[in-house]
Amino acid sequence: MSTLAHVYRARQRIAGRICRTPLVASPALARMVGAPVYLKLETVHPTGSFKLRGATNALVALAEQGVKRVVTASTGNHGRALAYAARALGMEATVCLSALVPQNKVDAIAALGARVVIVGNGQDDAQAEALRLARERGGACVPPFDDPLVIAGQATIGLEILEALPDVATIVVPLSGGGLFSGVALAAKGIQPQVRMIGATMERGAAMHASLAAGKPVSVDEVKTLADSLGGGIGLDNRHTFMLTRALIDRVLLLDEAAIARGIVHAYREERLVVEGAAAVGMAAALERMLSAERGALVIIVSGCNIDIELHRHLIGAA
Ligand SMILES: *Cc1c(COP(=O)(O)O)cnc(C)c1O
Repeated sequence: MSTLAHVYRARQRIAGRICRTPLVASPALARMVGAPVYLKLETVHPTGSFKLRGATNALVALAEQGVKRVVTASTGNHGRALAYAARALGMEATVCLSALVPQNKVDAIAALGARVVIVGNGQDDAQAEALRLARERGGACVPPFDDPLVIAGQATIGLEILEALPDVATIVVPLSGGGLFSGVALAAKGIQPQVRMIGATMERGAAMHASLAAGKPVSVDEVKTLADSLGGGIGLDNRHTFMLTRALIDRVLLLDEAAIARGIVHAYREERLVVEGAAAVGMAAALERMLSAERGALVIIVSGCNIDIELHRHLIGAA
């Protein structure tokens, strides 16, 4: 069970380890949407994404129980966050990654001192290997999204948004496994039930979207996308994020690759931000005029900045 009380406990646990991130107005996007728009900048964490919140909350809790070894599977950013938090807490981390994970993310995880295992061609293979390693070598498995401590850590973003902007009407959240969405929605609707929660994701290979449509967790083929951090399944045995997302989501928006690329370019040119594809979906939705029907102040979560810098240069140059 995840409740608002768990979120406040998470905030206490991560205090002093995770900074309160900026919430900045975007006049350019406000013109597009026809309402005030704010960007919640989860790009400023030392590992370049919000995942440090959930990983830190989980690892501090595990360290308190005497756990010394942690294992995970990741599309990149969770692994990097786990490696960072493990090092800070003197724990040993193993991160299983599929061959789809970009090299810049692999390198960053290894540089933090974690053991990196490359396995298979999708997040599901990496997940299976993480479970196997945890059993074989001992250690706690810290999944990237389907875990109450991880969800509660990501949820601290929701607390920060509601405190900075109590009259927020709509929050747009990049959606993959749903840890970020579930957490933020839990916190935001827990404090202010009228807040509208929108999930944004890529058009192809969006497992949570397919699962919501099917009414149960289903797997999808993982395809290459600019939003690589949104790839991967939600787990056919999903225990938390599917139910939470289904209960708390008001609308799902799907962005194609060209729109995501325009979001990345907009972020750079107009907001002076380097963002990865997964973090650009909310801005892309605003640019596509998908948010024009929303009323009142809108917050877009900009979830991370870990884009391969050559890819970024190429996208900016091509636009
Ligand atoms: C993990 C991630 C997401 C999606 O989070 P979920 O909890 O899996 O839905 C979005 N953006 C970035 C940058 C991420 O690393």
